[in-house]
Amino acid sequence: MKLPDVMRTNCPFCNAHKEHEVHLMRKGKEKMLSRGRRKYESVKRGYGGSPRTPKKEVFKIGKRVVTVLKCKTCGKKHQKVFGSRTKKRVEIGH
Ligand SMILES: [Zn+2]
Repeated sequence: MKLPDVMRTNCPFCNAHKEHEVHLMRKGKEKMLSRGRRKYESVKRGYGGSPRTPKKEVFKIGKRVVTVLKCKTCGKKHQKVFGSRTKKRVEIGH
């Protein structure tokens, strides 16, 4: 799947069609000392086990393409998800 590096779409902040830089959304590194993480660790401690139901094994083929669009006029970012799931490698800059 090929995506352009500059795209002209609607900016929700400018409320108009503007040029956007296209970047791929990547999962950030998990912070081990974040509030939610500390809370989860404290709940999990001791007798009683995990408060959440364990994940079922679901096999999905491919992933949705999530892009971060940065407006060239106001400089703000927003996300856009490209419809269906794809197994193919996503390339930007074509
Ligand atoms: Zn904008």
